[in-house]
Amino acid sequence: AWQRVKRRLRAELGEDVFASWFARLELQDVSGGVARLTVPTRFLKSWIESHYLDRVLATFRSEADGIESLEVGVRGAMAPARPGAPALAKPAASPRPAASPGPAAELPEPERAARGQAPEGDLGGAPLDARLTFESFVVGRSNALAHAAAERVARHDGGPALYNPLYFHAGVGLGKTHLLHGIGHSVKNAGKRVIYLTADRFMYGFVNALKTQSALAFKEKLRAIDVLILDDVQFIQGRSIQAEFGHTLNALIDAGRQVVVAADRPPTELEALDERVRSRLAGGLVVEIGTLDEALRASILQTRLEAVRASHPAFEVGPAVAEYVAKAITANGRDLEGAVNRLLAHATLTGAPVTLDTAETAIRDLVKNREPKRVKIEDIQKLVASRYNVSRSDILSERRTAAVVKPRQIAMYLSKVLTLRSLPEIGRRFGGRDHTTVLHAVRKIEKAIGEDTALCDEVELLKRMLQD
Ligand code: ADP
Ligand code: MG
Repeated sequence: AWQRVKRRLRAELGEDVFASWFARLELQDVSGGVARLTVPTRFLKSWIESHYLDRVLATFRSEADGIESLEVGVRGAMAPARPGAPALAKPAASPRPAASPGPAAELPEPERAARGQAPEGDLGGAPLDARLTFESFVVGRSNALAHAAAERVARHDGGPALYNPLYFHAGVGLGKTHLLHGIGHSVKNAGKRVIYLTADRFMYGFVNALKTQSALAFKEKLRAIDVLILDDVQFIQGRSIQAEFGHTLNALIDAGRQVVVAADRPPTELEALDERVRSRLAGGLVVEIGTLDEALRASILQTRLEAVRASHPAFEVGPAVAEYVAKAITANGRDLEGAVNRLLAHATLTGAPVTLDTAETAIRDLVKNREPKRVKIEDIQKLVASRYNVSRSDILSERRTAAVVKPRQIAMYLSKVLTLRSLPEIGRRFGGRDHTTVLHAVRKIEKAIGEDTALCDEVELLKRMLQD
């Protein structure tokens, strides 16, 4: 389950964020609902605790049952991190530590290890992805304006910057990063100095510079460029870092240098940034990229299929399959790309041509994940009650007869596996029970399912009824 958690974090947060913060996060053990994670440095610990704890917990919960809280420890600091070593002797943090001050405020002690392994210690900027160019970007109704603005800015030659900053916003997978890289390539080819950074890299670079007392050099370096491209600025947090971000922004814009920014929301909704930084971000051109319509999805898919065929000539996807994929995968470009990879894997592994049937199987999870059905605890209680001929109020009541206890426990179990609710929350929704009661029920049903195939089938059926 832990490997899945890491894989999901990597997929959801991106390679860059993952490498900066999570690559060295390890699971030590799980006991009593508490998952103990370790990192090599205090800095990573405080950073993860203050910025990513909820996210890691939510992901962990959806991959494994019975996790209630997380603790992050420092490997080697409190207890040796031998595999199979007992839990940290004295957990230092409460399960949900209060948000610690930003990493710059609480300057970490020297971290030899971290410095050596930092993905981009001196902030050279992240490399541009050769695949993400203007040429490979498909223009459609929902991104035409963003694309036109990107090209204008990229081709702009001489004179003060045009729209400054140029700000793109859109949901995940709609082409922001692609456009930013497109600008980066184009500007670089024109011989200008450009730096592409994700917010995480910006923060990492800044914190590192502070640690090595080279913050001044860091700033100089950032300001000595023609175009600064910043991706995913919604992740910029921490008082000193956002102040630094604001200074950098002002310095560049005032000097007429082009700044291009992308985020998952408009500038006004960047709650973590202060008002002045937000309004500066909103002061140039703000363009939203809309969702991909079917025509756009179909052409992105074709472009992607052709690109893959260049290296896999035998890989063929007929028009019916392509149409099905473009219709089924509505969420975003990333899933379309995922679909192509799956079709390719399928074709390569089986050696069989891609039929509608195989396509459906290969991309099933992408289609399903698109709109995870939200199951309500109330619906679970109603369905289970009616299956077992009791009333919903019986389930919520204090009664302990076998006829009521079993459906109640099944309903609690289903609430745990089908919703993201915590154990205490589930307890509250079951007539104000304690979370340990819920935990007991979950464990009991889990065990029973393992031993009793009839019950296993029954629970599986209930799950399907709730999810369809
Ligand atoms: P975002 O940064 O908005 O989350 P990305 O730019 O990473 O999204 O896009 C996700 C994937 O979808 C990438 O592989 C990208 O190349 C592809 N994609 C998105 N929009 C387009 C487009 N208009 N043309 C071609 N590919 C696209
Ligand atoms: Mg992106």
